[in-house]
Amino acid sequence: MTVLILGGTAEARELASVLLGRGRPVVSSLAGRVADPVLPAGPVRVGGFGGPGGLAQFLVQHRIEAVVDATHPFAATISAHAALAASEVGCPLVRLQRPGWSDHPDADRWTWVPDAGAAVTAGQTARRPFLTTGRQSLAAFLTWSDRDVLVRVVDPPDCRLPERWRVIRSRGPYSYPAERQLMSESGTDLLVTKDSGGSHTAAKLEAARDLGLAVVVIARPPTVAGTTVVRSTDDVLAWLATLTSPAQASESTQA
Ligand code: NAP
Repeated sequence: MTVLILGGTAEARELASVLLGRGRPVVSSLAGRVADPVLPAGPVRVGGFGGPGGLAQFLVQHRIEAVVDATHPFAATISAHAALAASEVGCPLVRLQRPGWSDHPDADRWTWVPDAGAAVTAGQTARRPFLTTGRQSLAAFLTWSDRDVLVRVVDPPDCRLPERWRVIRSRGPYSYPAERQLMSESGTDLLVTKDSGGSHTAAKLEAARDLGLAVVVIARPPTVAGTTVVRSTDDVLAWLATLTSPAQASESTQA
């Protein structure tokens, strides 16, 4: 049974390694947004499918028997496309999504907002905000051109940023001491983050708390209605074990 893993996350890479280690064929798919991505083990394809129709075609052409949507919690478009494509061709799909930070012990001290535009409003009084919401959301914050914004991104921003802004390019995971030092030295008065969840980028939340900083968190988009959502690689293994491959199903129907 070949499994398509829609990736771009640490969880997707871990899943590819575990499945390959168990002798299960996999193909990982990356969007191709990041210039120098960390590649998963095994076969990898890169680039969009050309919408749900293209993805459906890929599933049939490559005889994919199960799809694991292990994309980032904020990658809502590909998740919607995957659900449509899988349903069109009758391919089982599961969403692997790391738990968010809504259960974090400090979550009720943060300001939760639905999107980047609302984060701008919520952070109106900050003078030295630290933006960790990713390259694609930066345009929403450009009205903060009169502030000393610190931006952290993996790849260079694709829009022109105000002179006063400082850009740090790096990729997690990040440690508590380094996060605390960065925010302390930068005079940060507001941390803006997405509810990415997981542990790789969570140290900034502890550091912000200990420095007494305000935190604005952009909430996750909803998961696609009707999609099975699991939290871990073990959950995916359990889900895969429940599947009967189409070939077996057709054999048993014909028997
Ligand atoms: P998105 O808005 O949900 O997707 C936009 C388009 O990119 C999709 O319609 C699809 O193109 C293509 N695409 C996205 N993920 C793909 C994948 N794994 N394989 C093939 N095509 C893919 O996605 P996004 O927010 O731009 O994120 C892009 C990728 O970066 C995701 O795979 C995600 O896991 C990773 N990532 C995202 C974030 C984030 O904050 N959004 C953070 C870390 C990593 P077609 O319609 O042409 O198929």
